[in-house]
Amino acid sequence: MAESRVRVTANSETCVTSSLCVYRVPGVFDQDPEGRVLVLDAHPSAELGRELLRAERGCPTRSITVEGLDRSGLDEADEGTARVEGAA
Ligand code: SF4
Repeated sequence: MAESRVRVTANSETCVTSSLCVYRVPGVFDQDPEGRVLVLDAHPSAELGRELLRAERGCPTRSITVEGLDRSGLDEADEGTARVEGAA
C-alpha cells in the first residue's frame, strides 16, 4: 500500500487544549499531559480527508495544518469527499 500523500501538522505552541481535534479524529490527534495537541499519525488515510479538514477548520487557534487534499467543494458547504491530489 502506498504511503498517504496527506500530511498533518499541529502547532502545540498555539494550541489552547480545546480537544476538538481529538474528538473529531482520535486516531490522528491526541493530547500531551498538559492538554496540548499531539499528532499521532502525520500521514493518515485520505479516507479521513473530510474529518481532517473539519478538524483543521474547527481549531479555534488555527493550530492544525492539513496538506495534500483537494479542498474543492468542502470550504463552503462542508460536504463532499476530499480527494488526494494525484491519486488514481
Ligand atoms: S482543536 Fe486546536 S486548540 Fe483544540 S486541542 Fe486541537 S490543536 Fe489544540
